[in-house]
Amino acid sequence: MKLIDSHCHLYDFYNNGDLEKVLTRASGANVKHLVAIGTSPQDFEINCSLAKNFSNINYTVGVHPLFHGESVPNFEPYLTADKTPIAIGEIGLDYHSLPADSRDEIVAAQKNLFIAQLRAAKKCGLPVALHSREAFADTFALVAESGISGGKILFHCYGYGVEEMRAINELGAYVSFSGTITYKNAHVLREALRIANKDRLLIETDCPYLAPVPHRGEANEPSFLVHTARFIEEFFSNDCAGILDKIFDNTVQFFHLKIQ
Ligand SMILES: [Zn+2]
Repeated sequence: MKLIDSHCHLYDFYNNGDLEKVLTRASGANVKHLVAIGTSPQDFEINCSLAKNFSNINYTVGVHPLFHGESVPNFEPYLTADKTPIAIGEIGLDYHSLPADSRDEIVAAQKNLFIAQLRAAKKCGLPVALHSREAFADTFALVAESGISGGKILFHCYGYGVEEMRAINELGAYVSFSGTITYKNAHVLREALRIANKDRLLIETDCPYLAPVPHRGEANEPSFLVHTARFIEEFFSNDCAGILDKIFDNTVQFFHLKIQ
């Protein structure tokens, strides 16, 4: 088994001094490569330096919709750095639990930030890691308007149903499942996984959040990806042999990874 964690946040591990141990455990669990995802200008620099120091880490730059108060970032210094990002992300829309009294303003701010970053992605040609929660129609519409081709779009931590998956399949976009797919009540997700395009499927931890069963509720880390991987292997055991190799190849293809 060889795995790639297509979406992880290493900032806390780095700050707590735990990163080396976490990376050792990841390689012990066959996680060969990691994509350290940006969420705000605060973590761009750290992720860039991790990518410089560890040959099995690449990084992305992007401002998460929950940081909608941030101004539009200048990606330029990173795009011309020694170690360049492999994608723009995570960017998108998140309408979960918005306060009723400021919902419209927050939605507008998220959209502005998202549109500006989609433009930057289109301009530099990098693929896009999307964060989309309870905002599928708007996310999809803005992606379509951006003119970025489906093959450069990844819906990370898939959290929608069958209908949305059909739209994603039609667009030709990629989709990544996290440990939430292992949760007992995740029936809707599993129905969507069943019809996902196997040539566009990725997996991730989204650590330190969303640890898979049997670690649900604990702090998540890249080594736990193995549980999500085994779950998906078992899920497709009757109709798709070699799914984990396919997922590995899909990830390399989407991010244009050069794995040594
Ligand atoms: Zn994330």
